[in-house]
Amino acid sequence: MAEFSIIDTYFKQHHNSGADLGVGDDSALLTPPAGQQLVICADTLVAGRHFPLDTSAHAIGWKSVAVNLSDIAAMGAKPHSILLALSLDHIDHEWLKGFSQGLYDCCNQYGVSLIGGDTTQSPHLTISVTALGWIQQGRAVQRSGAKPGDLICVSGTLGDAAFGLQHLGHPLQQRLDYPTPRCQLGFQLQGLASSMIDVSDGLAQDLGHILKASACGAVLELTQLPVHTEIKKLQHEKQWQYALAGGDDYELCFTINPQNYEKLLQQQLDVNITIIGQITSKLGLTYQQNGIDYSIQFQGYQHFA
Ligand code: ADP
Ligand code: MG
Repeated sequence: MAEFSIIDTYFKQHHNSGADLGVGDDSALLTPPAGQQLVICADTLVAGRHFPLDTSAHAIGWKSVAVNLSDIAAMGAKPHSILLALSLDHIDHEWLKGFSQGLYDCCNQYGVSLIGGDTTQSPHLTISVTALGWIQQGRAVQRSGAKPGDLICVSGTLGDAAFGLQHLGHPLQQRLDYPTPRCQLGFQLQGLASSMIDVSDGLAQDLGHILKASACGAVLELTQLPVHTEIKKLQHEKQWQYALAGGDDYELCFTINPQNYEKLLQQQLDVNITIIGQITSKLGLTYQQNGIDYSIQFQGYQHFA
């Protein structure tokens, strides 16, 4: 019975959910808008693995939604709703209150509704969110579309979350706990970007996925990597390490041809965009410092390392 009182108390706030049927029946019901494709993804957060054990419940709630909206944004789609599969060790009302508030805060910020889920007991606190979004048929921005000559761009600043993780209590911990999914930018890039990915495991690794899928290479200009002023104070190699291999950034990395880049700049953007390099027909990722090749080895986050 406890399971049902948890659902009723904490996860039934979205009555007018934009769904035909939300939380409370065996499944939710949605009517797909005409001409749209369903975009769907899932991401799981495990306590102690994806966030420090003492992370606030509110931040965990926010982050579990935000990381999924980031994946929807990285397709150029608009997020619509989420499902929540929650495994709890025990019932802690204080925690559930903070967690559900953080989850709803993120949902409300991006116009997304909680339409269903599952609640179970397990020795490990695990939060799995599935996000759904819509995109006009055939318009999704995939990883495979980069072409030689395209510019490589990234939103915001890189490495903040990794810095925050290593300096808990520092203001940059906010970027670790409360990532900002770039929903508006992602949607604006639909029809403009040739490929896109959200940076969750470090730029070097995630850009590598684009290069592999697109069968091309890239030259990155290290001095152009956008980093926070706090990270700018560090020596160059340290800055680049944060920017390239930090992880948990949830910024968008995309490729775009120069004409479309001009079109993008004519729109109002809610986040800074930086050109950090160019796609090449020559395979592999080459780093340069002020236009001169620079040898540097980075690895992104590996889940089973
Ligand atoms: P069933 O037993 O049919 O799978 P449940 O009893 O697990 O259904 O869930 C009852 C309703 O509550 C369903 O609509 C389900 O989607 C919803 N639900 C369960 N857990 C959650 C949760 N953590 N967040 C949101 N909705 C939930
Ligand atoms: Mg059922």
